[in-house]
Amino acid sequence: MRSHDSSKRVLVTGGAGFLGSHLIERLLDQGHEVVCADNLFTGTKRNIAHLLPNPHFEFLRHDVTFPLYIEVDEIWNLACPASPVHYSHDPVQTTKTSVHGAINLLGLAKRLDCRIFQASTSEVYGDPSVHPQREEYWGNVNPIGPRSCYDEGKRCAETLFFDYHRQHGLDIKVARIFNTYGPRMHPNDGRVVSNFIVQALRGENITIYGEGQQTRSFCYVDDLIDGFIRLMATEKDFTGPCNLGNPAEMTIRELAETVIALTNSGSKLVFKPLPQDDPMQRQPDITLAKSRLGGWEPQVKLEDGLRRTIAYFDALLGEAR
Ligand code: NAD
Ligand code: UDP
Ligand code: UDP
Repeated sequence: MRSHDSSKRVLVTGGAGFLGSHLIERLLDQGHEVVCADNLFTGTKRNIAHLLPNPHFEFLRHDVTFPLYIEVDEIWNLACPASPVHYSHDPVQTTKTSVHGAINLLGLAKRLDCRIFQASTSEVYGDPSVHPQREEYWGNVNPIGPRSCYDEGKRCAETLFFDYHRQHGLDIKVARIFNTYGPRMHPNDGRVVSNFIVQALRGENITIYGEGQQTRSFCYVDDLIDGFIRLMATEKDFTGPCNLGNPAEMTIRELAETVIALTNSGSKLVFKPLPQDDPMQRQPDITLAKSRLGGWEPQVKLEDGLRRTIAYFDALLGEAR
């Protein structure tokens, strides 16, 4: 490890993406130096443009499926397309990103003897038969379906993290992130919150897949980043996996109605086929996070978080007009 003082040199992979850019802001605010490594597959320079003049920030165009030799004190591995539309665009590259990416970054962490964080996902639970999902649940994942490149890639990355921990004593932190939304999601990302808001603001039909009775639990990005920071600061004996998300569960139809109400939109609901293997329900059990992360729990109510996200997309679409 380079130093033990409070200011560190930190690597964030996937830092030009939605979550990564918020994490980097928080780390810079805390006085750290940040290196962002991203191949800009789904992320954009726009998300980090305001950070480029900061002398404590550095952008590295890099694909994590290739080795990376740099000197840092801490690693956050967020690189991976997260939306079903993006990760199924090039499924082989998605699995490579999760698996080869994890191996390279774990190899880097091993050489540097530094702490490493993995952005895992609620998708490791698949279409869950246990509800809400606790960390002990092993999941219900189709290994050969259209979502498998993401789900199994992330599951294998967890395996690698725990094997490097057991075999090489690596200091790991694994977060299982549940659906998170907020400013800087990509407008064409394909995920439900960005889709609904963009459709509502443009007065287009709101596309509900299936009957909209499937559920998700949506967490505002600031709450999630608080959870990240607290998890990374825990004692070495706490590795996770640790669920991070907002337990407030709702149906997709309820989400659509809320977005229409908050945007005052005249958009109508239209129903499209439900994608294959789309999970019917999802809600995090955050008992572990609450007890190990100093009482952490999400603070931002859905309506407040949606208002902030709507304001972001409104400005973004305004610029494009
Ligand atoms: P995002 O698509 O906005 O960000 C992912 C970033 O990774 C992008 O900047 C992209 O360019 C980069 N990337 C992709 N492949 C890469 C590669 N091979 N090498 C280098 N960079 C690469 O998505 P996000 O929502 O910010 O997700 C960040 C992480 O959190 C992902 O690992 C995702 O799986 C995980 N996650 C997110 C959510 C969520 O709800 N947002 C939920 C569960 C897990
Ligand atoms: N690696 C890297 N940066 C480093 C050290 C390792 O990118 O500073 C990569 C390298 O590609 C290597 C992988 O991490 O193959 C795994 O490293 P490890 O030491 O675990 O295994 P090995 O080098 O024996 O394959
Ligand atoms: N969804 C929808 N309309 C859209 C986009 C998504 O009804 O325009 C549904 C999707 O089928 C899923 C839920 O919303 O049931 C959440 O989808 P998302 O892609 O945001 O995340 P994930 O399925 O990975 O939880």
